[in-house]
Amino acid sequence: MPSYLDNDIKYLAGVGEKKAKLLAAELGIRTLGDLLYYFPFRYIDRTKIYPIAEITEELDESFVQIRARVLGKKFAGHGRSLRLSVPVADVSGTTELVWFRGAKWMDRRIEPGREYIFFGRPSFFHDRFNMAHPEIEGVDTANNPRPAGAMEGVYSTTERLTGAHMGSKGIFKMICTLWPLVEGSIEETLPAEFMKKHDLVGLRDALFNIHFPQTPVALKAAEYRLKFEELMGVQLEIASKRSERVTRDNGFMFSTVGAKFNAFWEQLPFPLTGAQKRVVKEIRADTRSGHQMNRLLQGDVGSGKTLVALLSMLIATDNGFQSCMMAPTEILARQHFASISKMVKGTGLRIAILTGASRTAERREALEGIAAGTIDILIGTHALIEDPVQFANLGLVVIDEQHRFGVEQRARLWTKNRQPPHILVMTATPIPRTLAMTLYGDLDVSVIDELPPGRQPIKTYHKTDAHRLAVQGFMKREIAKGRQIYVVYPLIEESAKMDLKSLVDGFESITRDFPRPEYQVIAVHGKMRAEDKQTAMREFQNRQAHIMVATSVIEVGVDVPNATVMIIENAERFGLSQLHQLRGRVGRGGEQSYCVLVSGVKLSRDARQRLEAMVSTTDGFELAELDLRLRGSGDLAGTQQSGQAFELKIADIGRDQQIVEHTRNLAAEILAEDPELSAPENALFAALKARFAPKTPQDFTNIS
Ligand code: ADP
Ligand code: MG
Repeated sequence: MPSYLDNDIKYLAGVGEKKAKLLAAELGIRTLGDLLYYFPFRYIDRTKIYPIAEITEELDESFVQIRARVLGKKFAGHGRSLRLSVPVADVSGTTELVWFRGAKWMDRRIEPGREYIFFGRPSFFHDRFNMAHPEIEGVDTANNPRPAGAMEGVYSTTERLTGAHMGSKGIFKMICTLWPLVEGSIEETLPAEFMKKHDLVGLRDALFNIHFPQTPVALKAAEYRLKFEELMGVQLEIASKRSERVTRDNGFMFSTVGAKFNAFWEQLPFPLTGAQKRVVKEIRADTRSGHQMNRLLQGDVGSGKTLVALLSMLIATDNGFQSCMMAPTEILARQHFASISKMVKGTGLRIAILTGASRTAERREALEGIAAGTIDILIGTHALIEDPVQFANLGLVVIDEQHRFGVEQRARLWTKNRQPPHILVMTATPIPRTLAMTLYGDLDVSVIDELPPGRQPIKTYHKTDAHRLAVQGFMKREIAKGRQIYVVYPLIEESAKMDLKSLVDGFESITRDFPRPEYQVIAVHGKMRAEDKQTAMREFQNRQAHIMVATSVIEVGVDVPNATVMIIENAERFGLSQLHQLRGRVGRGGEQSYCVLVSGVKLSRDARQRLEAMVSTTDGFELAELDLRLRGSGDLAGTQQSGQAFELKIADIGRDQQIVEHTRNLAAEILAEDPELSAPENALFAALKARFAPKTPQDFTNIS
């Protein structure tokens, strides 16, 4: 049934064709409903009213609000320098408000003798302040239903929108126009009983208060309701996808453990850790259940995930299936290929590699072998899922460092065989279990919570630029012991140029301090040709260089056990999870390893907390928890941009963990009673769930 909310935004008064196009392009807002569901991303607290006398220079640059009576008004200056000056007073003191722009317009609207609420930024001169262009409650936005002295929403916007009068205030004005038109068309999306039981306010009420908070308490209630609804929808979707998957018998059967697995097992130079054994068992159980496996394997860097993946792929081979393993970068793919080839030597396993940089011969060998079934395992980057790759019989897909793959990319894998292959996703980002499921959709979760024996905990230090000489001395002593060192510079996403500059400068200063021929220094960065990168990596692996200078391209997966020192420059610019990943590049052999975080002397509070946390613990889960608290899940290793399975408008999986878990349980209860949500009393839940069904062809459960 079409709703009034589906009407095109261009018909809203003051919008029109041109603005509508911009809104669609920049924010995806196309209908009245889209605008209604465009929520503020933060609020300015306008509940506090300052007595004029209390506004002192400490408040310089911050917004303040006063309630004051207009004492008079006068114009000063001429022509372009014309300004309106308005002295105002409250019981505590007086100040002056000034308008340069729109002075005449304002003059017609301000009445001497009346009291208004003014909101703006004070600027100080000697002991006095004035305010230029303050906002005046009730004058700027005539049909604004927000009461004076409330929380004021701030809407995120873009440069192009701001240029077209659709900054935060502009968007708010549109919503002011919108509200009276749509409020009668808002239909409740949750059953009345359910709302009562869980203390949820109605949808109309919630939408009203999210835009026009009547009180801080009403705002809280509105946020809670909208988050609850959103997460409820996500959980219903996940839970029912899962039950569909496990009720279908379309998983490939890996029923035996055979020759390849056993041959490899015999020649393994070390025993598996308890955690690795447990996970292999879980994967074994999944792959002979008759259902398709969809498993997330979490394990800290260096915990031995690759080995688990290899064992799983060997099981696939023994059962007549091909496997593929996708890595997020060229370097990693090459490295997996090299280390896996070495590990399986003598087992007769046939492995190939395919990446975007593969030359003709390599590419042909991979493509032909895969199609003919003469290759057992294909390793590569996302080039693997591109169209020409036709597998003879793909049974298992391993995705390494999953957060770099998007949902859509994963979805394309499902079409690579007549039935969906088993999926094993590996990540070193430690995410609490329920969060992982919500972030990534319907996945079972295994955890490797144990490092291989003999590893010494990495020692971590924080040094400022002032300690540079001491750090150098330390590096020289480690090199003298035969160790190798990484020096990492931050990747500056916005500016590839600056990025290179920081690396080039760093490289120069390091070659000055570590001159040839005594020292060999090499550099690796994202802009290098794939071949050059490989050569550099290989040289470092073969101990032909003492120091590798790199941008964070080495963040994931690189494995050089003899490298025992990780120096991170401008460490304050890295996020916690990135720092943790980088640190995981060392500590891979038996020698004591070190991580040195070098930063400026002046640090923000958050940066200081991050560096302190790194020094105090090596536990990835602990750091992840802290990261969630500091930043929310929006930044969880880039999940928002790439891997997150659901688009959330208001809930934050990190910050709203309690609601995540609560709604998860509720969804399970509801579906246990009524798996299809076909009962009339569940009709609203069915509709809510449908809103979160994937729009990409991820729904592989229907292929077969
Ligand atoms: P991850 O991918 O989890 O970061 P890797 O699989 O790269 O970790 O393993 C890190 C290193 O530990 C590798 O050199 C690997 O050979 C070694 N390793 C893996 N499992 C064990 C084990 N059970 N005992 C000893 N060393 C192991
Ligand atoms: Mg790895």
